[in-house]
Amino acid sequence: MREPGKDIEAAAGVLRSGGLVALPTETVYGLGANAEDATAVRRVFQVKGRPPSHPLIVHLASAGQLGEWVEEVPDTARVLADRFWPGPLTLVLPRGRRVPLEATGGLETVAVRVPDHPVALALLAAFGGGVAAPSANRFGSVSPTTADHVRAELGDAVDFILDGGPCQVGVESTIVDARGGVPSILRPGGVTREALEDVVGSKVAVTAEAAGGVRAPGQHPSHYAPRARVVLVEPEQVAAQAHVAQEQGHRVGVLLPPLVAAGVVVKADAVVEVPASMGAFARGLYEYLREFDRQGCDLVVASLPARDGLGLAIVDRLRRAAGPRTAG
Ligand code: AMP
Ligand code: MG
Repeated sequence: MREPGKDIEAAAGVLRSGGLVALPTETVYGLGANAEDATAVRRVFQVKGRPPSHPLIVHLASAGQLGEWVEEVPDTARVLADRFWPGPLTLVLPRGRRVPLEATGGLETVAVRVPDHPVALALLAAFGGGVAAPSANRFGSVSPTTADHVRAELGDAVDFILDGGPCQVGVESTIVDARGGVPSILRPGGVTREALEDVVGSKVAVTAEAAGGVRAPGQHPSHYAPRARVVLVEPEQVAAQAHVAQEQGHRVGVLLPPLVAAGVVVKADAVVEVPASMGAFARGLYEYLREFDRQGCDLVVASLPARDGLGLAIVDRLRRAAGPRTAG
């Protein structure tokens, strides 16, 4: 058996020499590079096939390092970092000088977070610097929540893969614009809107649409998407819609809502019963979508959960998975 400490040292060495390391976090697996090495950061974009204008998140070992990576730390940002780090919250702040524009997609802001995973934290501590990382998947596809997902999708393109087991949150971090007094959510994720509102003491707006370049409902560019086309319907229509699609000759996967699951017979090629707990749903979501691909489904019928708690992030990901497949 390999010793975890040796893996951490080896992975930190890879980062120091400009290589790429896939690392586990509590949200999803990341594809990491030394955040201060513009050449290494450019390779992250190449490996993912990601447009260079889509910025990465800089991962740090502790909240105490925040001031070294951003131009200024407003009071709200300090409060949020102290409350939620390590954890699935990313703060967008004015870019510090040591962050190359390659990592921020040319923006004068930088996204920063401290992940809540012992392997990620050990790597960050051993490396000492910041690790710029997006999710370790090809651009537009489903984020990886196990090391096997990373191996299957990126394999040899990554210099080192750290295996930290399955991710416990399962959806990406909540990205918050923390530059002003009241933060706003640019992407819903593992920290709920309600938890943020508790801490800041006021309503927190979700401006994810603006951040994603999405102008109108139904126009969500495809992202976080399996190969199969995803169709969203009302919960009580899931079974009937699956049946119709099968009659039309589709190989159909069904994401069956918990209330519907009781007592309904669903005819489909693959059925995943969604857990009633939103935490378990988020944890399993990307694996369910991958399972439909493995089963060869070309169409997935699903419905959206309520938009509170982690449901907000799940709704966001399912809507993007169902978005038009033209490049957005
Ligand atoms: P990923 O973890 O693959 O989703 O990639 C990082 C995410 O952080 C992307 O959705 C980016 O759009 C977002 N992000 C990174 N930096 C910024 C920034 N400065 N402003 C807004 N969003 C950002
Ligand atoms: Mg991603």
